[in-house]
Amino acid sequence: MEYDVVIVGGGPSGLAAAIKFAQLNKENNTDHSICLLEKGSEIGAHILSGNVFQPNALDELIPNWKELDAPLNVPVKKDKLVFLLEKVGIPVPSFIMPPMNNHGNYVISLGNLCRWLGEQAEQMGVEIFPGFPASKILIEDDKVVGVQTGDMGISESGDVKPGHEPGIEIRAKYTILGEGCRGHLGKQVIQKFNLSDGKDPQHYGIGFKEVWKIKPELHEEGLVVHTNGWPTPFDTPSGSYLYHGENNEVYLGYVIPLDYKNPHLSPFDEFQKWKTHPSIKKYLKGGERLTYGARALIKGGLQSLPKMEFPGGLIIGCNAGTLVFSKIKGSHTAMKSGEIAGQHIFEELQDSSNESYDSRIKNSWIYDELYKSRNFGPFFHKYGALIGAAFNAVDQLIFRGKLPFTLNHPTPDYACLKKADEMPKIEYSKPDGIYSFDKLSSVYLSNTNHEEDQPCHLQLKDSSIPISVNLPLYDEPAQRYCPAGVYEVVEKDNEKKFVINAQNCVHCKTCDIKDPSQNINWVTPEGPGGPNYPNM
Ligand SMILES: Cc1cc2nc3c(=O)[nH]c(=O)nc-3n(C[C@H](O)[C@H](O)[C@H](O)COP(=O)(O)OP(=O)(O)OC[C@H]3O[C@@H](n4cnc5c(N)ncnc54)[C@H](O)[C@@H]3O)c2cc1C
Ligand code: SF4
Repeated sequence: MEYDVVIVGGGPSGLAAAIKFAQLNKENNTDHSICLLEKGSEIGAHILSGNVFQPNALDELIPNWKELDAPLNVPVKKDKLVFLLEKVGIPVPSFIMPPMNNHGNYVISLGNLCRWLGEQAEQMGVEIFPGFPASKILIEDDKVVGVQTGDMGISESGDVKPGHEPGIEIRAKYTILGEGCRGHLGKQVIQKFNLSDGKDPQHYGIGFKEVWKIKPELHEEGLVVHTNGWPTPFDTPSGSYLYHGENNEVYLGYVIPLDYKNPHLSPFDEFQKWKTHPSIKKYLKGGERLTYGARALIKGGLQSLPKMEFPGGLIIGCNAGTLVFSKIKGSHTAMKSGEIAGQHIFEELQDSSNESYDSRIKNSWIYDELYKSRNFGPFFHKYGALIGAAFNAVDQLIFRGKLPFTLNHPTPDYACLKKADEMPKIEYSKPDGIYSFDKLSSVYLSNTNHEEDQPCHLQLKDSSIPISVNLPLYDEPAQRYCPAGVYEVVEKDNEKKFVINAQNCVHCKTCDIKDPSQNINWVTPEGPGGPNYPNM
């Protein structure tokens, strides 16, 4: 199949690119063809995000979004910041951290916003193919010329099964990669075209989310609560969010930086523990947990942002790293990068472009936001939760993010992990089944499903490393960092074996990032496998 433009990924960035391109097609009476591939069973099925949404990019893209019933129904009414000690929460005045001021923003489900954006794009003539992962990048003469969708109907051992359908080549003049954080094709393109040369390594966090229905008398629509402090140690500065959305629902979650040092740490159990704090469980009392999921987020910011243009295409949104970490927001910048991509590629096709994509990004408000946030992550990394927060308060409140120096974070996240025998063991209590839960019952709520008889999409470069290297040195941390219990070390006939329960994978990409031996390669499974998030 041939198109002028193929977009990989139906998140905010990919959909904004598609919509901007389609708008320009209409305004200019042109009919350049465009399609968008999404690996989820529908648009929104793989989207997981807080989400407090800053609407400026949407205002620019679809100014009449209110008339068109965009699902932005809950304006933020109040911000609360709390520093947690084990037994108490200390309120912190939210004015000391200006990026956390959410006046003018909305509490939304990003998955539902993407579903709505998908409808707008389709009405404008964009061909959307959900359930079709782009599994290979097509490169000819050192130029990207499109992508290939994944094969269907191949067995675990590689044999062709009945109903087999080979992947389809989708060739295009321009390929836009909007796969989100740690895109599987984005990773290859960054390496192939040396897009990150001269930059810091990229940095990540693992973010959890649950949606709860809570008692109406405990619900305050539009209330936004952020915490830091307990339960993670001070050298692992993590943060939480608890957003009161519509229909008596709260969206709550926890973000742990993936440069954490202690291999005994279990991000999932830290999140479950956090919910048992009096400042959090007071909202959840008598409530019901509806959904669960996890996703890595990208937070290296300006120092790690690769060149976004490559021969034959662009890498946009969180696939490149446009998230503004001081705000823990990336949807608006992802959308804006998509909007600029739609404009840029349209002008390229019309031969009227006179500026590179990277320079357009540099001249946009995305760059200003990333610039002001650039020391936020490094301050925490260098000085920990308390002193790092104090430096950040000074930088953000007094200097408005414009301190006259830029800090670096030159160690990749996986290399920050210390040996198991150098770090304290952590004992986690059993889940209480009221506020805290185990991994398997949690994954059940993510509606994750994969065809069982297919090649494993979690590829080990060397299958002996988990037991021969990672287990003795790091107590094989995959058992703990995977939020879906995919990886297990089991003992059979006095022999330790590494087991991969790939069908539970929620596509968070943490293993691809944090494995200390860099031995795990996440590739796209058969479409439309993965989670089926309702309103995440
Ligand atoms: C826990 C958490 C909380 C967050 N909270 C907020 C918040 O409150 N406010 C905010 O603004 N931002 C927040 N963010 C960040 C925000 O979610 C991201 O910045 C935003 O989703 C990035 O958009 P994107 O289009 O780049 O990627 P994504 O939203 O990740 O979308 C990528 C899409 O591409 C698809 N895809 C990936 N690979 C392929 C492939 N090979 N083939 C086909 N399809 C593919 C995926 O299935 C997905 O649908 C949060 C993130 C997390 C993880
Ligand atoms: S296997 Fe990897 S990508 Fe899948 S849920 Fe576990 S850590 Fe995330």
